Amino acid sequence: MDCLFCKIINGEIPSTKIYEDDKVLVFKDINPIAPIHWLIIPKHHLTSVQDVTSENSSIVAYIFEVVSKLTKDNGIESYRIITNCGDDVGQTVKHLHFHLLAGTKMGWSIE
Ligand code: AMP
Ligand code: ZN
Repeated sequence: MDCLFCKIINGEIPSTKIYEDDKVLVFKDINPIAPIHWLIIPKHHLTSVQDVTSENSSIVAYIFEVVSKLTKDNGIESYRIITNCGDDVGQTVKHLHFHLLAGTKMGWSIE
């Protein structure tokens, strides 16, 4: 499948890994918009939140378990999680991913 994040998962494209296990990969965003900008992705390809069903939703809970553990382990006390779903809100990679942003004060605005 021609998916950038699947290629990162299988090692065809390099990434700066923060954490990996059999179900998820966490790596640094190549174009960070905050001092800490990580991407958390399931290893199983899902296009976006729109692909989440009662059959596979346990991965979403698991991703948040990983977020909780990793932020604690790295001393990150304040952070924001974002997932873009669809073209209008700026989803550029069609593989479900959660942005973890931290390391600066943030406002709350939509352009
Ligand atoms: P989104 O716009 O929500 O689909 O997020 C996709 C994110 O992937 C963007 O923040 C990009 O900077 C990031 N990105 C694109 N290519 C790479 C790459 N090769 N390694 C790490 N992050 C990437
Ligand atoms: Zn993929």
